[in-house]
Amino acid sequence: MVKIVISLVILFQMGCSKTEDTASDDIAATGAVDITSVVLNKYFNGVTMATTASSIVLKSNGLPDHKTPYWGEGNALYEDFPEGFHANVNTSMSEHDYTMTITTRPSEATSHEETTLGAIGMALNGVPIYNDREGGNVALDALTITTFDYSGAHPGPGEDYHYHTTGKYTSTDDAKLIGFLRDGFPLYGRRDQDNTYPELDTYGGHVGATADFPDGIYHYHASNINYLNTGYYILKAGSYYGAKGSFTN
Ligand SMILES: [Zn+2]
Ligand SMILES: [Zn+2]
Repeated sequence: MVKIVISLVILFQMGCSKTEDTASDDIAATGAVDITSVVLNKYFNGVTMATTASSIVLKSNGLPDHKTPYWGEGNALYEDFPEGFHANVNTSMSEHDYTMTITTRPSEATSHEETTLGAIGMALNGVPIYNDREGGNVALDALTITTFDYSGAHPGPGEDYHYHTTGKYTSTDDAKLIGFLRDGFPLYGRRDQDNTYPELDTYGGHVGATADFPDGIYHYHASNINYLNTGYYILKAGSYYGAKGSFTN
């Protein structure tokens, strides 16, 4: 009899914690939001898109629409490095054949996979988004950051120009949509649309309304930590919130 009572109490408590879940958790967990129209409207710079009922395939050549020293002197989009910065061994960038496939209805994954070296998402201009890691899967250090342009980007050994942080041509201290990660969730600048700095979960995101998703969606924000005091802010570190789609080149 005692056992039955205990079981009932546990059941009752489980029921309670379920009902305490807010509607916003449902938005995140059930894939209630279809991102297709926002994706189709926001990507530019020659990014092509094809959609099915369940997925969106984005293709880009990975070259930015904006100025960077990595275009090379003489190019119309050339600008110098930030003061004291310079190219490392990787001095140039080249066209790629990137394909990112994401779900139309992102939802929380049952197990949260760690992001890894390489593209973890695509900015709205088709440039790959990387996490806070470099070759050898070591955290970005101050020396590597001196190879960044004003956009917090540089090419790797494969001449693959990519963003690690916020920057002049994507988002600085604002609520701009930067791109989508491979799990289909959008990535925003450091602020929310009400201009506040949101409190983020361990994945670097939260549920709330954005300019693009006024009814609310789970979304990431760039870190609000001045990384190694460099003035750059990491776009995304740690694990994905949802299940990642593919990114090939
Ligand atoms: Zn890099
Ligand atoms: Zn937010």
